[in-house]
Amino acid sequence: MQSFQMTYATMFDPPPELHDQFEAALKRQLSNLGQTYGMLIGGQDVYAPEQYPVTNPANREQILAYFQLGTPASADLALQAARAAFPAWRATPWQERVSLLRKAADLIEARIYDIAAATTLEVGKNRLEALGDVFEAPALIRYTCDQLESNQGFVKTLGVDPVPGYQVQNISTLQPYGVWLVISPFNFPTALTAGPVGAALAAGNTVVMKPAGRTPWSVRLLAECFLAAGLPEGAVNFVTGTGSGIGQALVDHPGVDGVTFTGSYPVGMGIFRQFAQRDYVHPVILELGGKNPVIVTRQADLDRAVSGIVRSAFGLQGQKCSANSRIYLEAPIYDQVLERLVAEIEKLKIGDPAQRETYLGPVISADVFRDYQDYSRELSAAGDLAAGGKVLQSNGLEGGYFVEPTLAVDLPLDHQFWRKELFLPISLVHKIDSLESGLELANDTQFGLTAGFYGSDKEAEKFLAASEAGVNYVNRPQGSTTGAWPSYQSFGGWKASGSSGVGAGGPYYLQRYMREQIRTTVR
Ligand code: NAP
Ligand code: MG
Repeated sequence: MQSFQMTYATMFDPPPELHDQFEAALKRQLSNLGQTYGMLIGGQDVYAPEQYPVTNPANREQILAYFQLGTPASADLALQAARAAFPAWRATPWQERVSLLRKAADLIEARIYDIAAATTLEVGKNRLEALGDVFEAPALIRYTCDQLESNQGFVKTLGVDPVPGYQVQNISTLQPYGVWLVISPFNFPTALTAGPVGAALAAGNTVVMKPAGRTPWSVRLLAECFLAAGLPEGAVNFVTGTGSGIGQALVDHPGVDGVTFTGSYPVGMGIFRQFAQRDYVHPVILELGGKNPVIVTRQADLDRAVSGIVRSAFGLQGQKCSANSRIYLEAPIYDQVLERLVAEIEKLKIGDPAQRETYLGPVISADVFRDYQDYSRELSAAGDLAAGGKVLQSNGLEGGYFVEPTLAVDLPLDHQFWRKELFLPISLVHKIDSLESGLELANDTQFGLTAGFYGSDKEAEKFLAASEAGVNYVNRPQGSTTGAWPSYQSFGGWKASGSSGVGAGGPYYLQRYMREQIRTTVR
């Protein structure tokens, strides 16, 4: 076990040995670039006809590794392997499944620095964000195991129906569905793959995981931990390639019994609608985008507000589903808070995310680098920019997708950017004349993932009663809308942000991977 328990809220002041260990791991990974990795199917490395390079967004010329461009045939092979492994895994006593998954969690923790270094290189996360992402994986898996244990494997004796002359036993069990598909996004490759994979496996399903095309390296290292822990071959499969290629082939395949998709709203809803065409209803767990608001009233502690907003708006370059992208400031404190936000933004260090002092690394790809420039132009035309708006392509930053953290003001409330998830370090600021109007605007979006509030306790009650978001933070300097941690904040969205109505890392999540079976026996 690590001596330091890291969460997204505690990661800002880590002990020095964490830096030493990260740097040693980074060196190891950098001396090992350019390897070719297989997919992992039925416990074996499997190669596709074509490979593709994974590059570093901080230095686009740098090839980190080559991965398989998985095909529909790879999808079929992986789903068949998972199908073949299902009966034995389902029949494995839950205590044994828990013990294997805890071993996997321990292995992830033991390899945390190597995985985090790969994450920094392929995602462009600063080292603390990368370590947080990897630390979250064992936290999610262990929480899932604890849930299974404290619910005794979800076997419950129910009431006895009053039938004279017979002895009746009624037992409720939760049973797995079969083969579970896990599709994860680029921004938290380790945590957002490990969470659903851990829950699906604990429940007794077997799994095929498909990471984002740009971030297969972290997830390959994660998959290796599950296999090294001794999970049966075929229970855990790892495939790679594009979303439209192997991703779509997996979604289309009748051999999928349930799916967890974490990613953007359009892709997630596409999967949901496609599953609706099947001959009966299958579970589709969607964890989608956000357009997360914060409200700051005249009664707020402004130090807390400024610190929390800067962290949540610009951490991981604004590429968090929980990023604080809308900022509503009450009129009397508007000028002061805006000025302080701008001053704090100027202090943020932008650069190579592998460097200790860096806060903002690059954005993920050429596409979104271009989007950033288009959005900035549009924001200064339709409103004004209080900070940022430019790409950074000099002083050593020319090799990567570096952009300035950006605050837009005076944007008309009917502009589409108040509702569209931009998924970049761009936040929109608006002046409100009362808490009530702030609450109305905060909810005026199809999304409902996270929300933040700074103000008095009495105002906070109103905020909490009105908020249409799954995760809410009041007066939190560690992050206005980001930084949920398993077992402390279940993480899931309302409305267009999620389909299940419950959060990962919370008390109701694991049950979504199982279906109830009643076993009535009459003697
Ligand atoms: P994305 O573009 O929607 O991709 C997500 C995953 O889906 C990737 O693995 C992608 O593969 C795959 N994919 C794309 N098209 C597919 C298709 N037709 N069939 C099957 N799979 C397909 O999202 P992203 O850019 O990676 O991540 C950012 C988004 O995720 C944001 O909207 C963010 O808010 C959301 N997110 C939500 C949560 C949450 O918990 N609610 C957490 C993190 C992120 P390729 O990469 O190879 O295309
Ligand atoms: Mg994408």
